[in-house]
Amino acid sequence: MPFNILVLVCLLYVIFLFAVAFGADKRARHGGATWLGNPLVYTLSLSVYCTAWTFYGAVGYAARSGLEYVTIYLGPTLVMIGWWGLLRKLVRIGRAQRVTSIADLISSRYGKSNGLGVLVTLLAVVGTTPYIALQLQSVTLSFAVFAEQGVSDWAGGEWAGGQTPVDLSATALWVAIGLALFTILFGTRNLDANERHNGVVTAIAVEAIVKLVALLAVGSFVVWGVAGGLSGISQMIAESPIESWTIHPGRWAGLTFVSAAAFLTLPRMFQVLVVENVDEEQLSTASWAFPAYLLLISLFVIPIAVAGLAVLPKDANPDLYVLTLPLYYNQQGLAMLSFLGGFSSATSMVIVASIALSTMVSNHIVMPIWLSVRPRKEATVSGDVRHLVLSARRLSIGAVLLLGYLYYQFSGGGAALAAIGLISFTGVAQALPALLGGILWRGASRRGAAVGLIAGFVVWAYTLFLPSFGDTGIMSAKMLAEGPWGIEWLRPRALFGLGGLDPVVHAVLWSMLINTTAFVTVSLMSFPSPLERLQGAQFVNVFEHSARARSWAHSGAEAEDLLIMAQRTMGADEAQSLFQRQAVEQGKDGYLPDITPDFISRLERELSGSVGAATAHAMVGQIVGGASVSVEDLMAVADETQQMLEYSSQLEAQQSELTTTAHRLSEVNEKLTQLSIQKDAFLSQISHELRTPMTSIRAFSEILREGGLDEEAQGKYARIIHGEAVRLTRLLDDLLDLSVLENGQVQLNPQHEKLSLLLDRAVAATSSVTEGEITIRRVREAEQTQLYTDTDRLAQVFINLIANAAKYCDAARPKLEIRVSERPGELRVDFIDNGSGIPVESQGMIFEKFFRLSDQKAAGGAGLGLAICREVMDKLGGSLSYLPGQGGAAFRITLPQAS
Ligand code: ADP
Repeated sequence: MPFNILVLVCLLYVIFLFAVAFGADKRARHGGATWLGNPLVYTLSLSVYCTAWTFYGAVGYAARSGLEYVTIYLGPTLVMIGWWGLLRKLVRIGRAQRVTSIADLISSRYGKSNGLGVLVTLLAVVGTTPYIALQLQSVTLSFAVFAEQGVSDWAGGEWAGGQTPVDLSATALWVAIGLALFTILFGTRNLDANERHNGVVTAIAVEAIVKLVALLAVGSFVVWGVAGGLSGISQMIAESPIESWTIHPGRWAGLTFVSAAAFLTLPRMFQVLVVENVDEEQLSTASWAFPAYLLLISLFVIPIAVAGLAVLPKDANPDLYVLTLPLYYNQQGLAMLSFLGGFSSATSMVIVASIALSTMVSNHIVMPIWLSVRPRKEATVSGDVRHLVLSARRLSIGAVLLLGYLYYQFSGGGAALAAIGLISFTGVAQALPALLGGILWRGASRRGAAVGLIAGFVVWAYTLFLPSFGDTGIMSAKMLAEGPWGIEWLRPRALFGLGGLDPVVHAVLWSMLINTTAFVTVSLMSFPSPLERLQGAQFVNVFEHSARARSWAHSGAEAEDLLIMAQRTMGADEAQSLFQRQAVEQGKDGYLPDITPDFISRLERELSGSVGAATAHAMVGQIVGGASVSVEDLMAVADETQQMLEYSSQLEAQQSELTTTAHRLSEVNEKLTQLSIQKDAFLSQISHELRTPMTSIRAFSEILREGGLDEEAQGKYARIIHGEAVRLTRLLDDLLDLSVLENGQVQLNPQHEKLSLLLDRAVAATSSVTEGEITIRRVREAEQTQLYTDTDRLAQVFINLIANAAKYCDAARPKLEIRVSERPGELRVDFIDNGSGIPVESQGMIFEKFFRLSDQKAAGGAGLGLAICREVMDKLGGSLSYLPGQGGAAFRITLPQAS
């Protein structure tokens, strides 16, 4: 089949995947039922475990070592069925703590230590790079085999390494670039607080089906098409060399263990298993469905291997039997399906792995560096964090794929697929003790985890990774045979004199043993910090405690700064609704809740969904400042017994209740005092304001009555009298209006009108006040909503807000932005000017009657405008509130909408 057609089919397939991912994303964004919610999609997404290594490599493995390939499936199956409870715990912790990756989980568990995050990230990158290279290699190889060959050509074994017309490294490069683009497009679309990728996961689930169907099709073809049925294939198996392979119990146990460990610790597995999970209950489906998937995908491995060994030439690469068998029998369609299956396996692994790795790299390496080079506070309050995080991820995805490509280039792509896979598995498995210890054992400490990880990593590198480059690579043949400097017991493949073992088993044994021993011993010897113990208790007892962190001491942090930071990181809507919900829970209105320790830890968890626990902690720390753990926290941690914990938490609850009540009382008191002062001032002012016009009306009307004035003077005095009378009437109107609104005797007169027309009306009405001094910015497309409400009343509110901006905005070039947005069931109109805004302490007061900011007395009216507006909005079923954190003064109107 010509190379071009193959490329075309690939492109079409990728476009199809794009469409699937795009459709799923769109559906999720429009609030439709997401595919992610389906337990079968979840199960299928777990199949990123089965990469090209499984697709091609399992058959190769079986051809070389008989039934041993089963261990690779046995490990995950045992975990899925036997360790269901543990998986559930992991998922629960993942959700409670908003974990974004395995590095994040470990860093968060051990006191939000970024050092550990970096360590695990490095481990993951080093362990995964060869694996990505492996995927590139298998795609490239299958391209080459398929593209150029009729059966006759490749039968000579040419393709296994000889000259081919296809430029292999160029193909690999294009594949890497394509994958990077796909991942960036769908993996970094948004910074959702919950980090789920509907599009990607749905595409992965589709790929899972493609690879399963492909393997089943090739298998069926071999059994029924080649061997002539079940009895035929049993006979072939009986005659093949596979029959005589024996089981090595040591290798079986070792490999099953490593694959079980890797299933839990591989970054991509953690991503689909924990991070992308939307519902714990999905695990109960996956616990039988995923083993069933593995069973199906491994069903025909032996038949294919046996047929390949029997039919194909001796020097044919067993790792490609799945592809070369159909080609040999000239089944072009089947071969194409098989090719797509392999392509799917490779791409889904690379996509998920690079999403997982890039999240780790950006959260644990890029962000901390950025935070540390920016001065305190400025970093979180003024920088555009969202943008930064997204670019960091995009760059990291590119970097991860580039690394994979470079590894592929330099390793020359020689080693058998299975060997690279196992090396990688053993490497990432080093995170297992820290992970399991972290969620099962409260005594596990950060130091223990770090020492264990480093020790395991070093032993792995020394006994398995470095020797894998062969004796011409980093280690010389002499060193491998005699040990460094001739020290016998340091031989990389026979550490401490333990020779005669299979290299992988040898490495697994020593690395895990030394890793675990170091982890446990150092944990026992070190005393964890309070924060660490708190996190430990939360992780280990995740089912008993609702996730209640008490990590921040109460402090006078500025709510507005926190809101600004949260808006920059999570997005404005999400942050505002979080703050508003919290304020409502505390019985306050507006967007600024009290900064309680509870609220801070909740905010921190939400933020960590975007930037990871350690970074979120650091960001909040920059604003809140101060000690992170209070005396109560220390006491709570010291109390090991459940009883004491409960008692103290009761006390704490009572105390915090008292504090809140006291706080609220003092707030009310404060408000009352202020109001009473304002009222006194108002009374004296109103008598003044009433008297001044009255006096001048009286004076001028007396002059008029006396007569004897020329016409010009008469006109002038009459105008003055008229103007003063108008002012008086307006004041009285306002007072009357307010009292009517407050006493609930208003008649609403609902009408249909388009929002844009209503705004036009309001802007026109204020133009005499604003006199073009203020520039008003609007987005007309957003204003096309049809309203059904009392439009005159609403216009009154608009006019008031626009006039206020014109009167009080103190910027050199006053600007007012009117932003309209719609939420389900709600219409929002924001009025945001660029003045210096309203100070936090007055934000609660401006809606009170007669309240005016003292230094603006000159410009203003009687301080009734906003009070009237709020009453009006109340009557219309909506609300009016001050929106902090926008730069200038900002008011938000909401209106209910039939949706
Ligand atoms: P008035 O009817 O006297 O204009 P309001 O109730 O409308 O009073 O407003 C109360 C106070 O809120 C004003 O005195 C002013 O200090 C402040 N205020 C209202 N809007 C703005 C704004 N856009 N920028 C700055 N301050 C404002």
